[in-house]
Amino acid sequence: MPLYDTNSIKIYNTLSGEKEVFEPITKGHIGMYVCGPTVYSNVHLGNVRTFMSFDMIFRYFKHLGYKVRYVRNITDAGHLENDDDVGEDKITKKARLEAIEPMEIVQRYTVDFHNVLRTFNFLPPSIEPTATGHIIEQIELIQDIIDNGFAYIKNGSVYFDVHKYNTSNEYGILSKRKLEDLIHNTRTLDGQSDKINPQDFALWKKAEPSHIMRWPSPWSDGFPGWHLECTAMSTKYLGDFFDIHGGGMDLKFPHHECEIAQNKAAKGQDPVKYWMHANMLELNGSRMSKSTGNYINPAELLSGKNDIMSKGYSPSVIRFFMMQASYKSVLDLTDEGLQAAEKGFNRLMDAIELLDTLKTDNTSTFNVIEWKQKCYAAMNDDFNTPILIAHLFESVKFINQLKDGSATLSTDDLKILKETISVFVFEVLGLVNVKKEASGIDKLTGAVEILINLRKEARVNKDFALSDKIRDELLEAGIQLQDGKEGTTFTTN
Ligand code: AMP
Ligand code: ZN
Repeated sequence: MPLYDTNSIKIYNTLSGEKEVFEPITKGHIGMYVCGPTVYSNVHLGNVRTFMSFDMIFRYFKHLGYKVRYVRNITDAGHLENDDDVGEDKITKKARLEAIEPMEIVQRYTVDFHNVLRTFNFLPPSIEPTATGHIIEQIELIQDIIDNGFAYIKNGSVYFDVHKYNTSNEYGILSKRKLEDLIHNTRTLDGQSDKINPQDFALWKKAEPSHIMRWPSPWSDGFPGWHLECTAMSTKYLGDFFDIHGGGMDLKFPHHECEIAQNKAAKGQDPVKYWMHANMLELNGSRMSKSTGNYINPAELLSGKNDIMSKGYSPSVIRFFMMQASYKSVLDLTDEGLQAAEKGFNRLMDAIELLDTLKTDNTSTFNVIEWKQKCYAAMNDDFNTPILIAHLFESVKFINQLKDGSATLSTDDLKILKETISVFVFEVLGLVNVKKEASGIDKLTGAVEILINLRKEARVNKDFALSDKIRDELLEAGIQLQDGKEGTTFTTN
C-alpha cells in the first residue's frame, strides 16, 4: 500500500484562503507547475528559497509514493523591466549592456541556476520548458482569447481586456484585489498607451526595430507578454485541469491573477486546483531583491566573501536554516540565524553518526512509532518543516541519552529510528551530511558519498545517462563503485 493512502495532506490553497485536504485529480498522480527564474542575472538566495520550498514539497510527495510530474519553466523572453508592459526586456537589456547575444545571457544564467540548484541538492524537475520554445503555443492561446472576445488588437500589439473579463467579477479572485481599487490606484498616462484601460495587460507586444528577441505572429513581429508563457506551458504539459500551481508570494499579483484570467478567457476555466505561494526571504529586515540591491548571491554566502556575514556557510546549513521556517512565513537571513542553524545542523549530524554505534536492549524507553507518526503529521499539515525539525531534535535528545546509558531501545525500534531519520533528514529535507568532509577527517569519503547520493537520485528519476556518467567518470578518476544489497560502496586504486 503506498504511503499516500495513509497520509492525508492538508494544503493552504491561496484561492480559497483555507487549508484544504489535498485530493489529487487522478489518484496517485500529481501535476505541479512552479514559475521558474528569469535568466538575466545570477539567482539570489531569495529565488533559491522559493525553489527550495517546492523542492521539499516535491520530495515529500515522491516519498509518499506519488507519481509527480513537476514542471518548472525558464523565462527567457517577454519579461520586461519592472514587471511592466513597457520598458526593455530584462534579458535584451543585459545583452545590450554586455554587447552579446540575448541567448548567451540566457545560457550563462541558466547554467548558473542549475549549478546553484545542484549545490543545494535540489532534485531536477520532470520538465523544464522555456518560453522561447513555446511561442507557437502562446500565439494559439492569444488567438483563442481574441476569438472569445476578451482581447483587442492595437497597432500590432494584443491586450487582454480586463474590464470585459471582469463582468463576472472574476479579476482579483486569487489576489483578493478589486478592480475598482486598482482603477483608483493606477496612474493614467494619457496618450502614452495603446491600452483601452491601464489595467489591461499585454498578450503580444509589437517589437520596436531595436528589439532583438522577436517572432512572427498574425499581429506583428513581436514577443509574448510575460504572463502568457506559464499559461501555455502549464496546460501543455499538465492538461486543462491540474493539481498544483506554485510560485513566490510576489507572483500572486499580477502574474498569477493574469494567468487565471487568460485561462478562463481562452478555455473557460482556471486549470489549477491548489494555488500555493512560498513566502519571501528577507535580508536584514527587508525583502531580498535584485532591483533594490538588497540581496546576496549563493556563491557569496557559501564562500563568506561578502560584507554582510561573518563567514561562509555550507549548502546544507543554509538549507537547514531555510527549512527551520514554514514555507508560508517570511524569513529573515541574518548572520546570527545562520550561526544558530549551523549549531543545530551539526548537533543533528552528530546524533545521526552516533546511530551506528548504539547498543540495543530488550525494551525501549522511547515510543518510536508515535514519534514517527508525529513526523508524518507535521509534514501532512501543509509541509510544516519547523515542527518536523522540532520532532527530529526530540530524537537527537533521545539518541544522546542512549549513548550515555540513561535510555534504552530495542533492535526493531532502532531500525525504525534510523530509517525514519534517514527519510526525513536526507530524503525529504534534502540535507547532506558534509560534516565529516568539513572537519577534514575524510574529505574523499564525504565527496564520493555526495556523488553516490546524486547517482541514487538520478536513478530514482530514471536519469540513467547521469547515473552512468557519475559512475564512469569516477572510474576514470580511479574510484570504483560497487552496488550491493546494503547500498553502494567504493574502492580506490
Ligand atoms: P524571478 O527570476 O524574478 O522571476 O523570480 C524567480 C522566483 O523567485 C519567483 O518565484 C519569485 O517569486 C521568487 N523570489 C524573488 N524574490 C524572492 C525573495 N526575496 N524571497 C523568496 N522568493 C523570491
Ligand atoms: Zn509564471
